[in-house]
Amino acid sequence: MTQGIHHITANSGNLDRTLDFYGRVLGRRLVKKTVNFEEPSAYHLYFGDETGNPGSILTFFVWHDAAPGRLGIGEAQDVGLAVPRQSFGFWMHRFIQNGVSFSPFEKRFGETVLPFRDPDGLRLALVGIDGLEMGPGFDSTDVPAEHAVRGIHNVTLLIDRSEPTADILQAVFGYRKAAVDGHVQRYAGSNSDAMVDLRAAGDFLPARAGAGSVDHIAFRAGDLAELRALTERLSAMGLDVTEEKDRTYFKSVYFRTSGGVLFEIATDGPGFGVDEELDRLGTGLKLPAALEPRRKLIESSLRDPASLILV
Ligand code: ZN
Repeated sequence: MTQGIHHITANSGNLDRTLDFYGRVLGRRLVKKTVNFEEPSAYHLYFGDETGNPGSILTFFVWHDAAPGRLGIGEAQDVGLAVPRQSFGFWMHRFIQNGVSFSPFEKRFGETVLPFRDPDGLRLALVGIDGLEMGPGFDSTDVPAEHAVRGIHNVTLLIDRSEPTADILQAVFGYRKAAVDGHVQRYAGSNSDAMVDLRAAGDFLPARAGAGSVDHIAFRAGDLAELRALTERLSAMGLDVTEEKDRTYFKSVYFRTSGGVLFEIATDGPGFGVDEELDRLGTGLKLPAALEPRRKLIESSLRDPASLILV
């Protein structure tokens, strides 16, 4: 049975800004620097805890100077990150110091939430959880382990109606309806706190992809056998699932829900240690074997996106 969310991938419009925001301000570890395997002129950055455990990972495709996206139907509305509740003072201070755009505290599902945005406008929220300070946290230069973001707490999907997505969550991924708060339904997995919240908005503008928008949500499969079993279940429901992709750090498949959100299923292994020592994660530009012969060209297009026109 599924173990919750593996990672969430969003779009960034600027490499340095994203590296600084997630690596320094939020204190996440850059566990891998690679490229979008289908579009290697774009960086693909993975941030997580010390080793990039599933459930801790936010990833970004970097589209140089991309226009901002527009929130709408078929997209994640926001991503909640778990922090110890007693760390809110630390984070408020840090947000003010670093000019991070944030909103007043809110209560969602009885939890205290501090909504904020990344430099591209991606909607995020810190969710304060009691007792989390007792668990392990990644100790970055600027964010001590006791205050560290522990991982993905929840994601809110903005969809026209909730039933088709709720069916997938329950029949395929083993989620159950856990709570309702206003117009939002919360679905929880069996052994994970990475929950999925469904906000049914009826007729509303569709989402437009761009900087600051979420590209997809990846759910965990323990191994390849589980990934295939889940794929079979999806196909039996009439959903169109892609062939298996080798993402070097995991194997995965993708499918679009009728709500318009792109879902992925990703295996837990082999993980980010497969092509870098654990103490060196994220330090080199790693390419899959198929792209390695084009490394020079890829590196120059990453340095100077305008050069692509000449290629
Ligand atoms: Zn992904």
